[in-house]
Amino acid sequence: MTEHVSDVPCPLCEQAPLETVKQVPFFRGYVVVFQHGHKRFAGCVSCVRKQMLLECLKAVTFGWLSPKALVCTVVETPVTFCRALMLGRDDKSVVRFLDELAIPTNNHDDRLRESIYGIAAAIIMADGQTHPSEIEIAEEYLSTILPKYERSELMRYIGEWNKSKSVLASAQFLNRFVSDEGRQVLLEMFLNIAFADGVGEKRERKQWNAFAGAMGLSRNESKKLWDAFVEMPA
Ligand SMILES: [Zn+2]
Repeated sequence: MTEHVSDVPCPLCEQAPLETVKQVPFFRGYVVVFQHGHKRFAGCVSCVRKQMLLECLKAVTFGWLSPKALVCTVVETPVTFCRALMLGRDDKSVVRFLDELAIPTNNHDDRLRESIYGIAAAIIMADGQTHPSEIEIAEEYLSTILPKYERSELMRYIGEWNKSKSVLASAQFLNRFVSDEGRQVLLEMFLNIAFADGVGEKRERKQWNAFAGAMGLSRNESKKLWDAFVEMPA
C-alpha cells in the first residue's frame, strides 16, 4: 500500500490516518417536519464506514414518519448502505478536504512546485508560442521563488502544456497556502511574463483573469493591474 497523503489522524479514532472523506445525504421525517441535508464524514475507512452505516440505521428508524422522508429513505438509504460496504481509501477526497482547510498534505512542497511551474508554463504558452523573453523573465522569478529551480523542469512543463489546461486549479491551490507577499510576487510574475514580448494579448488576458480571480482579486482590481502594464512604456 502506498504512503498516505497526510499524517493527519482520523478525528474519530485518532489511531489510523485520514483515509477518506464521504458526503452522505440524511433524512428525518417527523409528522410535520421533514429534515434533510448532507453530512460529511472524514476519517479512516473503518470509522467512516461505521458512521455511514449508523446514518442508514437512523434513516431506517426515523425516516418513515413523513411521506417525503419515506420516499427518500427507500431510495437513498440502500445507496448509502452499498457505498458504506464498498468503501475504500480515497486519497483524492482527503486531498480536497485538507486543501479546503488549508492543511498541507505530505507532498505539499512538490504540489507547490508543480503549481508554480504549471502557472509559469501556462502564461508563456497562452499565446501559443514561446518567446525567449518570456522564458527569461519566468526564469528570473522562478529561480527566486523556488529553492531548487531547474530550467529543464520549466521546459518540460512548457512542452506538456496544452490549450485545454486552465491555471484555475493551481491558482486556487496556491491562494490557500501562499502569504500575502507570495501572492503579490506571483501576480507580478504573471504580468511580467505576459507582457515580456511587449503585448499582453487576448488569450493571455483570459488566463490572467482566471488567475487573478482565483488569487482573490476583484474584476476591478485585476483590470487595474493589467491596464497599468498596458500603459507602461516599453
Ligand atoms: Zn478511525
